[in-house]
This record gives sequence, structure tokens and C-alpha cells, in this order.
Amino acid sequence: MLNDTIAAISTPLGEGGIAVIRVSGEEAIPLVDRIFKSKNKLADVATHTVHYGHIIDAKTNDKIEEVLVTVMRAPRSFTMEDVVEVSCHGGIVSVKKVLDELLAQGVRLAEPGEFTKRAFLNGRIDLTQAEAVIDLIRAKSDRAFKVALKQVDGALSKRIGELRFELVELMAHIEVNIDYPEHDVEEMTSAFIREKCQKVMEQISILLHSAEQGKILREGITTAIIGRPNVGKSSLLNALAQDNRAIVTDIPGTTRDVIEEYVNVGGIPLKLLDTAGIRETSDLVEQIGVERSRSALVDADLVLFVLNQAEALTDEDIAMMEQLKDRQTIVILNKVDLTPMLDRGVISEYFSEDRIVELSLLEGKGLNDLEQAISAIFFEGKLEGGDLTYVSNVRHIHLLKEARKSLEDAQQANDIHIPIDMLQIDIRTAWEQLGEIIGDSVAESLIDQIFSQFCLGK
Ligand code: GDP
Repeated sequence: MLNDTIAAISTPLGEGGIAVIRVSGEEAIPLVDRIFKSKNKLADVATHTVHYGHIIDAKTNDKIEEVLVTVMRAPRSFTMEDVVEVSCHGGIVSVKKVLDELLAQGVRLAEPGEFTKRAFLNGRIDLTQAEAVIDLIRAKSDRAFKVALKQVDGALSKRIGELRFELVELMAHIEVNIDYPEHDVEEMTSAFIREKCQKVMEQISILLHSAEQGKILREGITTAIIGRPNVGKSSLLNALAQDNRAIVTDIPGTTRDVIEEYVNVGGIPLKLLDTAGIRETSDLVEQIGVERSRSALVDADLVLFVLNQAEALTDEDIAMMEQLKDRQTIVILNKVDLTPMLDRGVISEYFSEDRIVELSLLEGKGLNDLEQAISAIFFEGKLEGGDLTYVSNVRHIHLLKEARKSLEDAQQANDIHIPIDMLQIDIRTAWEQLGEIIGDSVAESLIDQIFSQFCLGK
């Protein structure tokens, strides 16, 4: 299967300036050559060069598309195979025609993620790097993008590699002790095992601790903006969207057609719930707004509860605070440019000061305080300048936990002086579990599952 030549449209379908069809495999160059009319034969050109010409219908010799063709010879390509990229005009019809012509020549249509899968199987990248490619594509904020980029670069692989090296060292010591007991290697005391295991377990714990933050950076904090009509919800939405380049997107690979809106607040992506509801209900009767709020509340990890501080609190506000007091809530006192009318003391009964933020959306004041309050809740205020090696992948988290458990088992066995060749088994298991993260010894079914998450053409 690895030897055949595959092709797919690698740019999003639709109208665009250009569209790229990527072809990879042993026959990529001769197969494209059959339908490419140009001054040069691709078979003769140097690697990493671009060539102008036309894609033709092989049967009629009619020109189908005017194209630029890039040739990248193995192993210096994304897949480490011969790769040809055909850039055509961006229309759906022309791209499809070119692809059809390639398929007619015996090229197989690539499965989602198959190019990246080949890069992995051919040893160009390890599994964490391949998975990070998905994250790169889906990144919703600059920060999430940077984290993914670092992982593509191999930052996580490096950390895992270091931990595995510690364990290999430990196993080697144990091995020597088993094979040459008369040597009685001095460090080979159970204290040494304890120290090494402890060290690796601590490192694993640090990585796991980053997981929660990593998840947030990757998927965003699901956020509901609620409050009575006219308090400034849509103004808040607009301020966040304007200041932070709102990204409107639907989630690829899911069937729901709900449009979700993301905004970045100080580098933290917020996934805003029911923004359409907020915009629509501004002019509608109160009832609808309240119902909308209720349903958004169920899903939210973070609630931004907006109040107009130039109005007295209503019973409804107080009921809402009662409901929100044990949730991750930030109370926004908007319209501080107006004379205060609301009793702040009542709010303090429900929320601590660091959860109350004063804003004037009219004057654009206080948004920084809001950023800080959010950062304080989800990143203990320490987001900036942190180590960007975040573990954010469920599979990685699971394996890290398993490896830590194996080392705990080794520690316990060590404590009750079980013979060291028995400990060796647990330590080896931990080493293998860490290895699975980077794709050492993973099952084929798992590989298929991982790569099927990619979009077509990647
Ligand atoms: P929503 O119904 O909660 O979405 O509220 P809007 O965002 O539509 O705002 C209601 C009204 O309050 C609009 O006329 C805004 O211009 C006004 N408004 C919003 N924020 C402020 C503020 O900070 N100060 C003042 N004075 N007016 C504001």
C-alpha cells in the first residue's frame, strides 16, 4: 500500500486564488508528466523547482488548465517520497478536472491524512509531531498555534525521549546487577531505583499538569455571556471581537452546523456560546433572552455575567448570582462612566473581588482587567512566558498516566524489597508506554485512527 501513488486536493474546496493538488509516491513524477505539457519533462528537471505549463486531457490532448508544477524529489519532501504539487486556478471545476485526469492515469485518491501518515511511516516525523500537524491546522489562537508548532518541531518528543533515556539507564543498571551479581554495582541499591523513578514520575506529573492548560489553548474556554437586556452584552461581544480578531469557524469533521465564534482574550481562546442569540435578542422580549442564557449556561466553562452598574440590582440578578456563585464566573460591572446605582456589597456576598471587573464598553475601558481575571482563573495568572510544551492530546495524557502508574508499582515493589528483576518489568512497561506516545510500537489500528482525523489532502 505504501508504494502506490496518491493524490488529493490540498487546499480547501471552493473558489480561491489558487488551488493545489498534491501527488506523492514513486510514480508521481512520470504520472504527472503524462498529462503535463511544458518546455521541460518533469523527469528531467532538478528537485525543488517550479515549472509553467498546461494540464491536458490525455485522450484528446485538449488543454484543461494552466498550471505551475513544483517537483520535490525523495527524500526531501513532506512525505519523503517524490512529490509533485500542481497549482491551478482556484475554481472547483478546474481543480476537479485536473484531479480526475490524474486518477485516470492510475493515481489513487488519498485518504484523509494519508500524506502526513506517510511522513510518519517513512520516519520523517514521529507520532506526536504528526498529531501536532492536526493541531496546527485547527489552532484557534496564536498561542495554540505556537504550542502546536513547537510540538511539530519535536519539543514533546524530546521531553519524552529524555524520560525514556532515564529509564533505559535505570534498566541498564538493573541488568548489570542481575547478570553480574558478584559486581554488586554500588549505586544499584534500592535507594537509587527510588530516586530515579521518583524523578521520572515528577517530570510526568509536570507534563500532566500542563495538560489542562494545553486543552484550553487548543479548544478554547467555552464561554457564555449572560445578563439582562441592555446591560451591554453585544457591546462586550463586539469589543472582544474587534480587539482580538474574531475567528468564525465551524469545527471540521463534525456534523453539526452551528457556527461557533472564537475570540482571543490575551492569547486565551474563548469559544463563545450562542453569540447569535445575544445579537438577536437585544431587541426582543426579555423572556427569550433569559431562556437563551439558561441553555448556554449548561455548557459553559466560564460565565461572563454582565450587569449595568448604573441600575439597581433586580431580584432576577440576585437569583442569577445565587445560581452562578459556585461556577467559574466573572461579574462584569459595565457602564462605569455613568453614576453608580448598584449595591456592590450585595455582589461581594456572592463573589470575591478578583471575580468582579469594572468596564466601560462605551469608553473601551477595563478590558485588560477582564483579560487578567480570566487568566487568573484558568492559568493561575501565569500564562505569559510559560513553557510551551503543553500536553494536550487525550492519548498522550492517558499514556503518561499509565506510565506513572507503572513506576508507582515499581516503587511499591521496591519498598517491600521485591527482587529487582521483578521491578525491571514495571520499569520496562513504563518505558514502553512512554514510547507509545511518540509512536514507538503502536498498533496499526491506532495509527489509522489518528490519521483519519486529518482533512483530505493533508
Ligand atoms: P445587550 O442588550 O446586553 O446586548 O446590550 P447592548 O450591548 O446592546 O447595549 C445596550 C445599550 O447600552 C447600547 O445603547 C450601548 O451603546 C449602551 N452601552 C453599552 N456599554 C456601555 C457603557 O459602558 N456605557 C454607557 N454609557 N453605555 C453603554
